[in-house]
Formats: sequence, structure tokens, C-alpha cells
Amino acid sequence: MPALIETELGGLTLHARGKVRDLYAVGEYLLLVATDRISAFDHVLASGIPGKGKVLTQLSIFWFDLLRDIVPNHLVTANVDEFPAELREYADELRDRSMLVKRAQMFPVECVVRGYLSGSAWKEYTATGAVCGIRLGPGLSESDKLPEPIFTPATKSLHGSHDENIPFSQMVSLVGKDSSERLRELSLAIYRKASDYAEQRGLILADTKFEFGTTAEGIILADEVLTPDSSRYWPSEGYAPGGAQPSFDKQYVRDYLESIRWNKQAPAPALPEDVVRRTQEKYLEAYRLLTGKQLVV
Ligand code: ATP
Ligand code: MG
Repeated sequence: MPALIETELGGLTLHARGKVRDLYAVGEYLLLVATDRISAFDHVLASGIPGKGKVLTQLSIFWFDLLRDIVPNHLVTANVDEFPAELREYADELRDRSMLVKRAQMFPVECVVRGYLSGSAWKEYTATGAVCGIRLGPGLSESDKLPEPIFTPATKSLHGSHDENIPFSQMVSLVGKDSSERLRELSLAIYRKASDYAEQRGLILADTKFEFGTTAEGIILADEVLTPDSSRYWPSEGYAPGGAQPSFDKQYVRDYLESIRWNKQAPAPALPEDVVRRTQEKYLEAYRLLTGKQLVV
């Protein structure tokens, strides 16, 4: 099956195209379609990974269900047979990769939780000894497990730019004290449950990002959750702090892009067939490890 790069659902109102998802307005709801687009170094690449959007959608559904005792979520249905009539003609294209969701007023903050010191947090720690204003003890190495998980919010980037880590106090001025405290509490609770679960399945959840919104019913968990795109998973086996850990899903992509010395400017290159195939296998493996089930794409 070829990669689905972009959807064109004629007759529907396109609400937005993100790096990975196409969003349509469907009555009072939103239709979130996860395409097979893949981004690296903040650019969407010219090649897609066949079935990737299905993995992201099915994993999000899996986690929404597992987390429902902690927080309600935006999912209305992911069953195309239950979609409104206007979507019927697109059922085959949408199957397994789409969610009909409650439209939420999104908080303009990415709720990041980190249990390990990696990525932008590692950079910030080496420069300042702190991450998002949270002071960490001296002598930590890259990829070390933190004494306890920390909440490190970030502002949502506009297209093409980097998310920016912000101190909690700045989040408070953006969304208010009560919401900030509630979102921090929810994020940490979700991280704890998810990382415990992942550990039993042989994976370390190094860090992850949540997006929350509000509806008339209050705060809900929205967007995608605990997918390889929103989270850093490492195999427990072979975990070796003191350096960067190989990325579970995108390592072949990153290695390839480094090998061709791409300048990280648009246009982003395409990927060779074997990089596509091995990356697809990693996404499917993530699904298999986390859910114990096989996904056929
Ligand atoms: P990236 O994730 O690569 O940074 P992106 O977040 O801009 O890109 P996508 O993930 O492709 O884009 O698209 C999802 C978009 O839909 C995000 O902007 C997200 O905030 C928004 N979104 C998710 N769930 C809801 C919801 N229930 N109501 C309104 N907007 C939502
Ligand atoms: Mg996103």
C-alpha cells in the first residue's frame, strides 16, 4: 500500500493541515486524519511512511482508553461506519487513520513531561543547570533518569519553528494559575501511568507531550497521545546513559539525512526505499510492543 501524503475530501471544509494531520470541520466535530507524512528536523519529508498514520491513530485510541480514569478525551468515534453520512464515500481512505473528535478550545501550551534528561532539556541543563526553571542537581549525564518526572511546558511553535521551553510562571501568565496547576497535575499523572505501563512492555518512556483543550464539559485530553511522534521511547534493553539514545522510530531517517548532509532547509529530501521500509517496521513494532497486538497496514 502506498503512503497517504495528503487528503482531499471534496465537499468538506478543510480546517487546517498540520505537519502530520489533516483536519476537517464536520458539523460540530472535527475530523482528524493522520496521514503518512513524516517530519524530521522540523521539516515534512518528501516521502511518507506507509501506514504510519494508522499506527498513530490506533495507538492514540489505545492510550485514550487506558487513561480514561485519569482524564476524559476528545474522541467521539474512530469507527468509520459510525461517521456522519457526508464522510461515507471516503470510508476506505479514512479507515483506521481517522478520529471524529470534540472540537476543543486548545490551550496554547504543549504539556511536556520528562522522566529522563534528553533533547532540548539536556541542552538547557548543560547551559544553565535547570530545565524550564526547575533546578536539577549537578553531575547529571545525558539520558539519565531524573530523580522524579518533571513538567516542562513549551509554547506551541508556529509552522516551521521550534517549540520553546518556558518556565511554569510563563505558562501561568498564558493560561492562568488554576488551569496551569491542573494541567501539570494531569500531565504528571498520565506520564506516571503510561511510563509504568511502557516499562512492563520493555520500553522506557523518556518524555512525552500532551495537548489539552476545554469544552463545555471542562478540560479534555486532545490531539494524539503517547505515540512515537509525540513521545521519546527507548528500548529498555541497551539503555546506556552518558550519551544520546537511538531514536526508536526515526533513527534510520535521521541517520540517512545526516549521511546526505542535507542543510535542513526546504525543500526536504525524499527517503530511499529501504529507509522507508525499516522506519515503517519500527512504527509497527512500537504498536506491537505497546499493545501486544499486530497492526496490518
Ligand atoms: P506537529 O505536531 O508536527 O507540531 P501540528 O501540531 O501543527 O504539527 P498536527 O499534529 O499535524 O499539527 O495536527 C493536529 C492539530 O490539531 C494541532 O494543531 C492540534 O493542536 C489540533 N487539535 C488536536 N485535537 C484537537 C481538538 N480536539 N480540537 C481542536 N484542535 C485540535
Ligand atoms: Mg501535532
